Amino acid sequence: MDIRNGFQGTIGHTPLIRLPWPSAQTGREILGKAEFLNPGGSIKDRAALAMVEDARAQGRLKPGGVLVEGTAGNTGIGLALVGNALGSPVVIVMPETQSQEKKDALRLAGADLRLVPAVPYSNPGNYVHQARAVAEALGGLWVNQFDNLANREGHRRTTGAEILAQTEGQVAAFTCAVGTGGTLAGVALALKAANPATRIVLADPHGSALYTWVKEGRLAAEGTSITEGIGQGRVTENLKDAPIDDAVRISDAEALSVLFNLARHDGLMLGGSSGINVAAAMRVAADLPPGARVVTVLADGAQRYQSKLYNPEFLRSRHLPTPPWLA
Ligand code: PMP
Repeated sequence: MDIRNGFQGTIGHTPLIRLPWPSAQTGREILGKAEFLNPGGSIKDRAALAMVEDARAQGRLKPGGVLVEGTAGNTGIGLALVGNALGSPVVIVMPETQSQEKKDALRLAGADLRLVPAVPYSNPGNYVHQARAVAEALGGLWVNQFDNLANREGHRRTTGAEILAQTEGQVAAFTCAVGTGGTLAGVALALKAANPATRIVLADPHGSALYTWVKEGRLAAEGTSITEGIGQGRVTENLKDAPIDDAVRISDAEALSVLFNLARHDGLMLGGSSGINVAAAMRVAADLPPGARVVTVLADGAQRYQSKLYNPEFLRSRHLPTPPWLA
């Protein structure tokens, strides 16, 4: 028998997909971890479950206790569903700029959604600080995904371990964008422990400060990006001491072109961070021997961004490429 137990039991154990178009383009083997197949629709189901289980094990979350988190959306969706499955009310603080589809999913899940203006981390109105304040006011648990190490530990133990088992440890390089850094750091720790020669490459969108951090040791953001859930202006606790070898910076135009090709040629409809991740995998592959294996993450699906990434009017307004079949 192969039966999964409830929402929590359905998280993880995702397929590792050989991506035909990127592999053919590069002559290398580009593999994508299919995180969009998690029950809440994204990789953040894993982090949500890992952090809630850790809080319960430590006695920081009692049965029926309120969960509060600041999130670009996907962590919130994962937490809302874990909360429903465990009987915990969930309050989500989110920047108002995030996609309508993610707001709708949070409301559908029954989360208490509080939208705040999108302001930098240095501003006390930033969604992360607001979430902490709401948790204090309600006597709830602030999940604190950015600096809660249960996030990256969950990825080391599940995402990283699954990739190792699925590839029998044969991974030349791994590319991944960063929001909290939980995915990149957790997978990097697992892969490096098995094979220190595996190259770990951070994929950074414009507007994020991590490219220069990896390359030059200083945080410096430049430009903007329409991708959601990724990009970071500080070194989170999850990112600290992560074994990162290199970084690449990917533009929205490059990521979108990859996304449109993945939809058209490979039948995979993916979210913006997957475009950044696969574009980075293709760049890194070019420096590796023919046939080398590069693994990356397909963090969520296109449906979450239909009104933006796959909306010709939105794309034209930002002077970005439009899929010819939608134009
Ligand atoms: N991709 C998407 C679509 C996300 O929502 C997130 C998380 N906000 C990430 C990537 C980044 O993952 P992590 O927080 O583990 O760095």
